[in-house]
Amino acid sequence: MKKPQDKTARMTKALREGGVRVTRQREALLKVLTEAADHPDAAELHRRAQVLDDTVSLATVYRTLTVLEREGVVHRHSFESGGARFEVADPVHHDHIVDIDTGHIIEFRNDKIEELQRLIAAEMGYEIVHHRLELYCRKLA
Ligand SMILES: [Zn+2]
Repeated sequence: MKKPQDKTARMTKALREGGVRVTRQREALLKVLTEAADHPDAAELHRRAQVLDDTVSLATVYRTLTVLEREGVVHRHSFESGGARFEVADPVHHDHIVDIDTGHIIEFRNDKIEELQRLIAAEMGYEIVHHRLELYCRKLA
């Protein structure tokens, strides 16, 4: 697990490389993104950023997320039910379980699944560039 400073530093660098100024409003958003462990949507990120700086606009949140996604440091997820959700890209890949009753998103990583996917792609003459796996689940009673 990387240190929080690394996430912030990667996003700050990405904004500069994306040609965007790192304003105090954007710094508030980066802090919120760095601390988020729950894949929030843009409205929720906006709400949290406003707690730190009430001049952060929703437009700034959207624009900044777009640049961060384009630069590859933030992932946009389109889980079934609900709009886009965001997370800072983790250098170590993980997949997601979506609890369809609570909406909770649980991260997991399984080396057997990773290897099996690699084998399937290889058998078909491909190498995986990236992948996403979402399991829609209900908690066992
Ligand atoms: Zn995740």
